[in-house]
Amino acid sequence: MPLIGCIADDLTGATDLASMLVQGGARTLQVMGVPSAPLETADIDALVVALKSRSLPPTEAVRESLRALAWLHRQGCRQFYFKYCSTFDSTAEGNIGPVTDALLAALDSDFTVACPGYPENRRTVFNGYLFADGVPLNESGMQDHPLTPMNDANLVRVLKPQTRRPVGLLDYATLRRGVAATRARIAELRTAGIGIAICDSIDDADLETLGRACVDLPLVTAGSGLALGLTTAWRDRGALPASGDAASLLPPRGRRAILSGSCSRATLAQLQQARALYPSFHLEAGELMERGNGLVAEAIAWSAVQHADQAVLISASSPPDEVRRVQERFGGLAVGERIEHALGEIARALVYRQDVGQLLVTGGETSGAVVRALKVGGLRIGPRIDPGVPWTQAIGDDGKVLSLALKSGNFGSVDFMVKAWEALA
Ligand code: ADP
Repeated sequence: MPLIGCIADDLTGATDLASMLVQGGARTLQVMGVPSAPLETADIDALVVALKSRSLPPTEAVRESLRALAWLHRQGCRQFYFKYCSTFDSTAEGNIGPVTDALLAALDSDFTVACPGYPENRRTVFNGYLFADGVPLNESGMQDHPLTPMNDANLVRVLKPQTRRPVGLLDYATLRRGVAATRARIAELRTAGIGIAICDSIDDADLETLGRACVDLPLVTAGSGLALGLTTAWRDRGALPASGDAASLLPPRGRRAILSGSCSRATLAQLQQARALYPSFHLEAGELMERGNGLVAEAIAWSAVQHADQAVLISASSPPDEVRRVQERFGGLAVGERIEHALGEIARALVYRQDVGQLLVTGGETSGAVVRALKVGGLRIGPRIDPGVPWTQAIGDDGKVLSLALKSGNFGSVDFMVKAWEALA
């Protein structure tokens, strides 16, 4: 029976959490959206439902999250984890507050924590203030985010207008006094009527203390960092294997391909290195808008004649000035959707007609489009390539293994596209 049931508000964030759970020894399965039927999960410790609820209107985000909770409940999960971004991405209306309120009510519970800290990725919280890469959240670039601009680093203040419940703080000084002191403080906050406590965390030891103090809460809300502490606590209790390889996957098979739709700085640098090594096809955005399916067919035909034992690279990614030019001509949304659709079509042809069995995708939205096009329902989470990016595996209806790595644009070191294959072999 799965122990931990997780609801993630976006796809690459779900994979990031799933990877953390695997590192903590939990055999983890990620599903895309809420499955319509129960799944066989006899050998699974953690289930992660990937939603796309971060920028939905709050009522829709709540509805989706409650559906996910009900499904996880039916699968037998005992503790629930609402996962959001470690930069607490939300607007004045939500969705972190409304979803937390609804999940607490559905679980008949009156208290939970909010712990975005992820020290390994340089997200820390001190006295309730969130720092990203060492600077306050509202100076980190997140103040310019197009959908969820973050103009205040004080998370107690940020969360208050989003929730009906009183918000408090579980501070660093308490955490440093250990698990018993932290549990005692949680009891005090509850007695004082606090419904959600923002948690400090500046290093992994804080996450371990928090994990041990929160292991009996029906619901936790967090970035992926808290999974480190929770899995430690579950292992201590013997509810997870003390050792063993939760990341072991079936042997990879088939040809290798990279599909890139991210224009983030980290991805552009990774592509520069990869282009020197692999045959590559540039899916030029302006040409795609004009020629549409003709260019998609050309990319597919090009891939078919490449050497089967070499990775092929098909990329739409471009530097900012080119992106701006094509967006001005055709509209940003239209171009983005056309490229996502094209890469989805290409993924389908490569996997189902050209025997690609190892596929690396860049970009959060792009990954979502590819996974939808491939009709992948569930992913078993495997070894980590870089923080936040594991290999995953889906088994098709034909029993064939498909290895997938879904990389959020800015994740991964510069040699990501080379070392990824080594992590799978
Ligand atoms: P990231 O994780 O880096 O944000 P996403 O895949 O989420 O990557 O978003 C990138 C968006 O940019 C996608 O909608 C993609 O289709 C679009 N895109 C990719 N290449 C180009 C390009 N050359 N011009 C304009 N838009 C592009």
